[in-house]
Amino acid sequence: MRTRIKELREEIDRINRELLGLLAERGRIAQEIGRIQTALGLPHYDPVREAEMLDYLTRENPGPFPNETIKHLFKEIFKASLTLEESEDQKAFLYSRKRHPEPTVVEAGPARFGAEKLVIAGPCSIESRAQMEETAAFLAKKGVKVLRGGAFKPRTSPYAFQGLGEEGLRIGRDAARRHGLAFVTEVMDTRDVEMVAEYADILQVGARNMQNFALLKEVGQAQKPVLLKRGMSATVEEWFYAAEYILAQGNDQVILVERGIRTFEKWTRNTLDLSGAVLAKQETHLPVVVDVTHAAGRTDLLAPLARAALAAGVDAVHVEVHPNPLVALSDNRQQLDFAGFERFLEAIRDLL
Ligand code: PEP
Ligand code: MN
Repeated sequence: MRTRIKELREEIDRINRELLGLLAERGRIAQEIGRIQTALGLPHYDPVREAEMLDYLTRENPGPFPNETIKHLFKEIFKASLTLEESEDQKAFLYSRKRHPEPTVVEAGPARFGAEKLVIAGPCSIESRAQMEETAAFLAKKGVKVLRGGAFKPRTSPYAFQGLGEEGLRIGRDAARRHGLAFVTEVMDTRDVEMVAEYADILQVGARNMQNFALLKEVGQAQKPVLLKRGMSATVEEWFYAAEYILAQGNDQVILVERGIRTFEKWTRNTLDLSGAVLAKQETHLPVVVDVTHAAGRTDLLAPLARAALAAGVDAVHVEVHPNPLVALSDNRQQLDFAGFERFLEAIRDLL
């Protein structure tokens, strides 16, 4: 009797090996179907096809397993095949670390995003030559390499200060050049991309434009790095897809910025989604920045949030600094003055 069990178990082992081989073959064929579906833009999951296969299998079921068991087992196989097909897609995304395991380094002036820890700083809006000169001189002395400042401002009210436009770009660029800094500024309109690219070292796509697909395609064609802010109500996936739009145009110089998302919380302007920033580091090969200013909307949280972000592995922090925040023409409650920035820098220095 015992030898019979042994013989039968050997049979089972042989069948297991055959099943394994068949599963591998099935998996490879499913992957090939998946690749063709992806190329044709078709979905991988086809419920009608699944129902037909299950009907067929239960009709042909010779027993002894009941139909319910056969259905259950094959559904698991279908699910596993679908996962295979979808993970192939993930590999195909240009943003994906699976496709591009090495971190991308984005160079702008003296800054190397992804290869060193950086601070991006400067006023919310460019207001005057004196303001930018004073700020750039101060920041350069503090070791900052990237100067920010908006010349085209996305304001909630159409009657609020909209920015100085091209004159602002000139002021920002000149101040950055004089002090050896890279200059980053927002572009809001496809018609302005070429002009902004003449002045800026990095083009910023703001949160409100993260899904402005025409703008994403346009900056994707510019020969300049792009700082892509996450939309205030965008999922991490939507944010990555927005980056994909830029990468798909041939521009591989993309920097992702988590700047806080909208939640029910009122004590902060937005809610910093640190897990989103960490996901961006893990899932993509692009440099990741955390904008603590727009996330918090208040100056007392900036240093602790920046410390948390840097400790979590992001490449840079972004903070607004103004010579006299009280009279700033935008975001005047959240910008640091120079003394505040010095304290901020001291508080994060060990993580830079
Ligand atoms: C800004 O950087 O000044 C800005 C408007 O940011 P966001 O698009 O993140 O709101
Ligand atoms: Mn701002």
